[in-house]
Amino acid sequence: MNNVPEIFGSMVFNREVMKERLPEDVYKSLKHTIQRGDDLDITVANVVAEAMKNWAIEKGATHYTHWFQPMTGITAEKHDSFVTPTSDGKVIMSFSGKELIKGEPDASSFPSGGLRATFEARGYTAWDPTSYAFVKDGSLCIPSVFCSYGGEALDKKTPLLRSTEALNEQAMRILKLFGTDATHVSPNCGPEQEYFLVDKELFNKREDLVVCGRTLFGAKPPKGQELEDHYFGAIKPRISAFMKELDEELWKLGVLSKTKHNEAAPCQHELAPIYGTANAATDHNQLTMETMKKVAERHGLVCILQEKPFEGINGSGKHDNWSLATDKGANLLAPGKNPYENAQFLLFLCAVIKAVDEHQDLLRISVATAGNDHRLGANEAPPAIVSMFLGDELTAILDAIDEGKPYYGTEKLQMEIGVHVLPTFPKDTTDRNRTSPFAFTGNKFEFRMPGSAMSVAEPNVVINTIVAESLMQFADELEGAEDFKTALNKLIRRTIKEHKRIIFNGDGYSNEWKTEAARRGLLNLPTTADALPHFVNEENIALFTRHRVYTEKELRSRHDILLESYCKIIAIEALTMCDMAGRDIIPAVGSYILKLARTVNELKSASAPIPHHTVSTLNRLVELSDEMSASLTRLRANAEHAQRNLSSEKCGFFCRDEVLPLMDELRKAADEAETLTERSYWPFPTYGDLLYYI
Ligand code: ADP
Ligand code: MG
Repeated sequence: MNNVPEIFGSMVFNREVMKERLPEDVYKSLKHTIQRGDDLDITVANVVAEAMKNWAIEKGATHYTHWFQPMTGITAEKHDSFVTPTSDGKVIMSFSGKELIKGEPDASSFPSGGLRATFEARGYTAWDPTSYAFVKDGSLCIPSVFCSYGGEALDKKTPLLRSTEALNEQAMRILKLFGTDATHVSPNCGPEQEYFLVDKELFNKREDLVVCGRTLFGAKPPKGQELEDHYFGAIKPRISAFMKELDEELWKLGVLSKTKHNEAAPCQHELAPIYGTANAATDHNQLTMETMKKVAERHGLVCILQEKPFEGINGSGKHDNWSLATDKGANLLAPGKNPYENAQFLLFLCAVIKAVDEHQDLLRISVATAGNDHRLGANEAPPAIVSMFLGDELTAILDAIDEGKPYYGTEKLQMEIGVHVLPTFPKDTTDRNRTSPFAFTGNKFEFRMPGSAMSVAEPNVVINTIVAESLMQFADELEGAEDFKTALNKLIRRTIKEHKRIIFNGDGYSNEWKTEAARRGLLNLPTTADALPHFVNEENIALFTRHRVYTEKELRSRHDILLESYCKIIAIEALTMCDMAGRDIIPAVGSYILKLARTVNELKSASAPIPHHTVSTLNRLVELSDEMSASLTRLRANAEHAQRNLSSEKCGFFCRDEVLPLMDELRKAADEAETLTERSYWPFPTYGDLLYYI
């Protein structure tokens, strides 16, 4: 393809299109809404709607939809056509400002965590003009927020926008103290997306993949990822064709897909976009996931986004690269070029350190799902313990500041804040540690705990809010200071002293770290059930309401939705296992047992010797079959109990303690049976079939 610049953004109603198609005053007014959040006048909206509609029709659209992100994790759309009847029995294509600004989907089937009773089904969607509209599959998609009739957020975008605003407000207070030409600060995000591709025909033969998006059974294949021959390996033609088409589709939608490569596990790949504002990056990541699934289908593949599709094989994450930038293009997490800028850099760095240390629970909660629990701490992804990696050089500088000792870098320096130029930290000196949950990588942080299937909205809401909180406390202290420089020095030194326990540059996968982290008093919340109760404790309610990110009611409703979804997923997985074990595996093993028994009988009647292998396999399979049916009975009872008692506080712990262990038990017996059963008897494709299909 050689016309990339031409197709890039061709399906997006972006700034250039607006400029070209809108009268100058309307364009200006819309620009102010986008940049400064000014209210949008209805007369302006009418003109924008008309221009958008005409542009969309040229791109083949017949419908429009408010495109939003309810609490289910996927995006939602309800399409209305532009068609409007006229009095002479014909139709015209119309679209009004009112329709652009506000939609009213029947919201009764989206999770609301008790915020909206079913009888008050009305929710409404409202255009978010800070994210561009686009045409997809013949519909004009209008990025929107989704609220209840009472104005409570029912989606992921609303709190993200609110947290972005909170962060802007507090960061600007700090920048003003340093003297700044900036008028706005916004978080940037570059989400790296990992995924698996498997053959569609094989995929469809497994109930666990079809229903749950991950395998619930499967013996380890003779070859897993131990040879490490897939990582960055040459991309096979079938995959390459998929990736090419994916890039093309994404570019049309204005998604800056940049890097693609094979990942650690067989069939695993990664796509990284060029970063953008957290809001646009979140929308683009949702679009990326959707497009991956769609394009895969066209290639006879299925794209698996679930966090742990195969046991014993690396799962998939979504690294959230996060930084803070001003509207004048300065990155506040890049060490500056003069001492003054460096003092500012150190202060922002300290704000993040303090935020991560004080809100480990929220970071853990922001990535807590049933699927992601299988990854965290499994020697392939960061542990469930939150810590920060800063690299040796930066840590040495902070130590020097903390202890008031000289720093031996390229030269010996008495570290005095605001006096020295810090070295720049190139990516290769800061990026060596891949085991850290929250790593500084030169001029941004990389939060590595998010799972591949989740929206990056939630991690970003938490990072934005907790950093806003640190900055608020810093600004409160510094604004009242008699001497700014003295107060700044004191504040930075104190923050390092109080929060350096969160800094850990060693191997996050090791067992020693678990012990050491406990000694340091860091939280360890291994499962979603352990993490979620912290969401609604007093400090967290105070934090989110103070920054107007969530009301208490919204926070409690989110807590309920997350808990309920954790229990639902586990119950569905458990029942799927029961179904597969009861209707596929046990019968298949039974048939093979019968075959072995007949063999034994025939050999006996022929007075032939009976191979030991036949007898021992037969005996073992009978034992395993009995074990499976016993586990199955208990598992079914517990899963059904969990389903009946969904959403109670206890249900999360019940799933953790009484369902997941039984799933492991059933799987263990079934996986052993797989290794003993003749291939042709096994009822669905094995790990070997799935992972080496190309
Ligand atoms: P790696 O896999 O080595 O971590 P990648 O190149 O795969 O790196 O991904 C890095 C991601 O970080 C990209 O999406 C990139 O756009 C993003 N990124 C780079 N600089 C920034 C920044 N200042 N703020 C936010 N994200 C950034
Ligand atoms: Mg990468």
